[in-house]
Amino acid sequence: MPLNPYEIRLLSEDELTQDTVQYFRKKYNNRFIRALRAAEEGRVMHYHFRPSDTTAWIVQGGKREYLVIPGIYCSCRSFYQSVVIARDFEMCYHMLAQNIAEVRSLQKDAETSDSERRRLYDKWRRTD
Ligand SMILES: [Zn+2]
Repeated sequence: MPLNPYEIRLLSEDELTQDTVQYFRKKYNNRFIRALRAAEEGRVMHYHFRPSDTTAWIVQGGKREYLVIPGIYCSCRSFYQSVVIARDFEMCYHMLAQNIAEVRSLQKDAETSDSERRRLYDKWRRTD
């Protein structure tokens, strides 16, 4: 479940107000703060691969890089355990970070080749 239109509008503001932060903390608790920090620290990457013209979103977490498919998937353990199995919440903080970065244009763009993509995917596909 990606952010709803109301949330996207809140996050589009140049300055996030105290009310906005409160709203997101209430709904996503500490994951919002971690996500915002990751986005602001430039830990959300948007890769573009040539010549296939495909893309991938990556979030640098505490231990390693996680592959995020916006609003759908993250390769971290928390996504599997808390989102898919337990259904405790709808997004891990990496997914939230990707969403925040995209809305606020905080992502770091990287361009590389398809052969490099194959190498990177071997690393990103891990789910430990
Ligand atoms: Zn995750």
